[in-house]
Amino acid sequence: MMDKLVKSEVYRFLFENSNDALLLTNPDGHVYRANPAACEMFQRSEEEICTLGRSGLVDLSDPRLAPALEERATKGRVRVELNFIRKDSSVFPTECASAIFQDEIGDIWTVIILRDMTSIKAAEDASRRAQEESNYFAMYDYLTGTLNRRAFMSKLHEELSRSRREADPFSILLLDIDHFKRINDTMSHACGDEVLKTVASLLGEKLRPYDTLGRYGGDEFIILLPKTTKQIAQEIGERLRFHIVSSRMKCDHIPISVSISVGLACCDNAPDEEVDALIKRADKNLYLAKQKRNTVFGL
Ligand code: GH3
Ligand code: MG
Repeated sequence: MMDKLVKSEVYRFLFENSNDALLLTNPDGHVYRANPAACEMFQRSEEEICTLGRSGLVDLSDPRLAPALEERATKGRVRVELNFIRKDSSVFPTECASAIFQDEIGDIWTVIILRDMTSIKAAEDASRRAQEESNYFAMYDYLTGTLNRRAFMSKLHEELSRSRREADPFSILLLDIDHFKRINDTMSHACGDEVLKTVASLLGEKLRPYDTLGRYGGDEFIILLPKTTKQIAQEIGERLRFHIVSSRMKCDHIPISVSISVGLACCDNAPDEEVDALIKRADKNLYLAKQKRNTVFGL
């Protein structure tokens, strides 16, 4: 008798003070008791919860519901993530544990324990988004969305190995916007940013799906042209140069004329050349192109 009294006092304390929602139910979903945490979770009184029953509280469209009920019926208990619905119709995720018990007189009871996972899920989502964003910016330039220098260089090293293995030439183009400083100085830095974004997008439009565009730094872009001879690279560089100079860019409704200079290097000319030397050669050619500007140069 003493044992029973202590136990029931203990259970009452647990029921009233638990931070998890506790529902005393039967297997059909009738709710007999709901603790204060359940009332807070559902934003309802205990009476309302008991009137609604399980089917008025759980999200009936949750595909995890039927298998969970089946598992509880066969194994006697279940632990599952399930969505429930508050009084204001908002759906919230829970971690739900439920078990079936039989009392001394043979009646079957079920207990449902619910933990609101809203804030934990939100924190998980935020952390996943932050991780995705950090993965993205580890590879892509924040302004133009093109590959950043590091990611581009890694792609270039891969291409150099592939090209050697398959004895297949590739080319690179180094591009620099002409008189870009003037745009920053006479218009604004924001306008300069817009020009960088537009140039990147115009270049992307004219590339083949297997070409790779990267931002090399400042107003300099770099392009990897796999399986491309020097002659084809020259034609592609020319096509890009023409596309940029004939575009009608505007900033704050004011037309701006933008052109690029392009230096090219093809690995065919020096099969043993490493990536740094190849870029150096493209840079030298870019320097020569800059003598005229709006020019493609590739010795
Ligand atoms: P050139 O024809 O010889 O290339 O002359 P330029 O004026 O383009 O000279 P340069 O290429 O040396 O100048 C690049 C400028 O680009 C310098 C820097 O202030 C500016 N710049 C670098 N990064 C950014 C950026 O992210 N946004 C903006 N708006 N400007 C940038
Ligand atoms: Mg420049």
